[in-house]
Amino acid sequence: MTSHVDGNALAGPLSEIFLTDMTSASGRCAGCGDISPLAMAMVYTKPKAFIVRCHVCDTVLITLIQSSDRNWIDLEGLTALTIPR
Ligand SMILES: [Zn+2]
Repeated sequence: MTSHVDGNALAGPLSEIFLTDMTSASGRCAGCGDISPLAMAMVYTKPKAFIVRCHVCDTVLITLIQSSDRNWIDLEGLTALTIPR
């Protein structure tokens, strides 16, 4: 797999969807149960796509694909998501 950046790379793309700063949101990994801020996740970027993996066990937490008219997001690797208000 290619090199990754940290979860701060999600600030723009996820904030467009959730309308808040998602880097301070915390997620619970379906693979290992770790609860951490999304900013700690490992983010693999491709043109128009973000693959977000758990920093502990490498489970895919989030897949985000952007097109010109919609966003497709898969949260299958998260069993919970806590979003600050
Ligand atoms: Zn994990």
